[in-house]
Amino acid sequence: MARVYNFSAGPAVLPEEVLREAADEMLDYEGSGMSVMEMSHRSKPFAAIMEAAEQDIRDLLSIPDNYRVLFLQGGASTQFAMIPMNLMKNKVADYVVSGSWSKKAYQEAKLFGDARCVASSADENFSYVPDVHALELSDDADYVYICQNETIYGTVYHELPDTNGKPLVADVSSCFLSEPMDVSKYGLIYGGVQKNVGPAGVTIVIIRDDLVTDEPLPGTPTMLRYDTHVDAKSLYNTPPAYGIYICGKVFKWLKAQGGLEAMQQRNVEKAQLLYDFLDQSKLFKGTARTEDRSLMNVPFVTGSDELDAKFVAEAKKVGIESIKGHRSVGGMRASIYNAMPREGVEALVKFMQEFERENG
Ligand code: PMP
Repeated sequence: MARVYNFSAGPAVLPEEVLREAADEMLDYEGSGMSVMEMSHRSKPFAAIMEAAEQDIRDLLSIPDNYRVLFLQGGASTQFAMIPMNLMKNKVADYVVSGSWSKKAYQEAKLFGDARCVASSADENFSYVPDVHALELSDDADYVYICQNETIYGTVYHELPDTNGKPLVADVSSCFLSEPMDVSKYGLIYGGVQKNVGPAGVTIVIIRDDLVTDEPLPGTPTMLRYDTHVDAKSLYNTPPAYGIYICGKVFKWLKAQGGLEAMQQRNVEKAQLLYDFLDQSKLFKGTARTEDRSLMNVPFVTGSDELDAKFVAEAKKVGIESIKGHRSVGGMRASIYNAMPREGVEALVKFMQEFERENG
């Protein structure tokens, strides 16, 4: 059995060590005689898994004590609604629309109140991050919302907006744990884990205590209230138990790699390999503005739909998988998350060089 280099945007590559460990423990988790999949979420071994997972992510991100960590379901998309339902006290929120995911969040928030778009990069097909230096924020905004890394367009914020004291809410789905972040600068951080952290089905929310309200918008379902999950320590109902267990293993793996500083260094080096090649290539061209390029998602095109399709097909033959770009950008996209080894990026660049020689 040969493993491929999987450049999928998500669900995505996971560390091989984690998969092997999970395989070893599949039938008998630590002498329990059962798989974590079969285990009560109220059992002792599972309580220990949850506790360790929370502690490890707290250690990795140096999460301050006045923040809660929640392991929820419903994907990142459920947060598009949960955020306004719980945070929109004045029914006003300011959104920066830098791609499809922030646009979706913005549109969902409009269901609940006056969501305002305070900056957008739609004019150039979201190929850049809008200038967030001098945003004209609403005086009565309950929060300011960004998607920190836009998975489809391959852009990332290198500087956070000045929110003038208003809580900053960030979707970090596609850059979660790829580098250190200062949690205290945010009111709420969340992400689906299926890109950089674990299997699909778990959404992690990190929320500052004062934003956990017992008065969400009227009619907010119990399951969509943050206080429900804070009070029950993510065990109000059956949590995505197996997914949390894998996330916990990935946290331990990240620690063993040297933590998020070490990951950042590796991610910068990996991305640099690819961007350096793109910058000198006569055939391939990156689509995101240079200053805003993501370390995680790298979209690129040849300029010809036919050649793009040929590239994707031939790449697959040499074990370079899921490199096709999202339909809204076209071309190719290499997602090079934490678990993508440097050798995978080297193999991709080598293949691109060969392809250029033969087709350029
Ligand atoms: N936000 C971002 C940045 C994403 O990349 C995605 C998924 N591709 C989502 C939100 C939606 O995630 P989910 O499928 O977990 O709802």
